[in-house]
Amino acid sequence: MSDSQNELSPEHQVEAARKAFEQEFERFARFTAGDLEAAVTEERALADLRTRHLGKKSALAATKKLIGRVAPEGRAAFGQLVQSTEAALVQSLDQAEQSLKDYIQNERTARESIDVTLPGRRPRFGHRHPITLLREKLEDVFVALGYAIEDDREIETDFYNFTALNIPENHPARGWQDTFYTTDGFALRSQTSTVQIHAMQRRGVPVRMIAPGRVFRRDTPDPTHNPMFFQVEGLCVDRGITMAHLKGTVAEFLRRMFGPDTVTRFRPSYFPFTEPSAEFDFSCFKCKGSGCRICKNSGWIELGGSGMVHPNVLRTVGVDPQEYSGFAFGLGIDRMCALMYELDDIRLLFENDVRFLGQFE
Ligand SMILES: [Zn+2]
Repeated sequence: MSDSQNELSPEHQVEAARKAFEQEFERFARFTAGDLEAAVTEERALADLRTRHLGKKSALAATKKLIGRVAPEGRAAFGQLVQSTEAALVQSLDQAEQSLKDYIQNERTARESIDVTLPGRRPRFGHRHPITLLREKLEDVFVALGYAIEDDREIETDFYNFTALNIPENHPARGWQDTFYTTDGFALRSQTSTVQIHAMQRRGVPVRMIAPGRVFRRDTPDPTHNPMFFQVEGLCVDRGITMAHLKGTVAEFLRRMFGPDTVTRFRPSYFPFTEPSAEFDFSCFKCKGSGCRICKNSGWIELGGSGMVHPNVLRTVGVDPQEYSGFAFGLGIDRMCALMYELDDIRLLFENDVRFLGQFE
């Protein structure tokens, strides 16, 4: 075999380069864009095709170096052949590229309102507020002890907020400095004890109930005070109820909340609506009494107030204190929440910062 048979002439090499291009380009010429993603992929493939067939290392570019092998009289014609072939390839590529670009542009404009190529947005699941979680835990404990859950209005008359609770006319709690009043003289309840009165009037005695709810006091917000907070009130009235029942109930409640080793202690105190009255503390759940930051190194955590229902309160709702007696207790849910989660600032509970609230999921 001679060289001439084995090797294509320069003109044939140009022809071969054109055919190789057309073979590959065929599918682009036939391509009808059906969706945006396919069109974008095709656009990239087309750019790749252009590099391979028109780039510096392409077969067509190589033919430009063959000019020396063409007979002098045919060189001009060969030069034109290379140029026209190159121009034809460029035109085919430009047309295909333009139609793809137009299609992509139109599709993107049409999708601007709803871009279905974006990943979906995962719905955010909410969860209960830490105060709600704690309130439900308290409710579970008392429901298990046979208590009903009561709630009532947050705006009260003077009678329910003070008089019925044996709070005398001149008591400082009645003052404008301590209680929020509406312009027509109603009070925003300053304790959940109001629910005791409503419940005894409605249900009569004997009664066993707790009343978790929102209360209001004119406090300037600081790390341990808020003008609105949550309390839970407990009331048990029946024949023969004594201070022993109060102590046993509070102790059992705290054991169920903080563990079976929890120790409770009572300290004499004064409240207008109970007689005798006592504040109650429990052994620190964190250090078990040895002293830590939470209990301020005392080993005890002060939690709430309690006492035997004052005979005047029972009389107000038509219950004979000679026949019935009862106990009541109350504590702050927010404060308990702050203790349990070691919050330095109780205001965090109401600032609705999801970075904070998200930690309680
Ligand atoms: Zn402690």
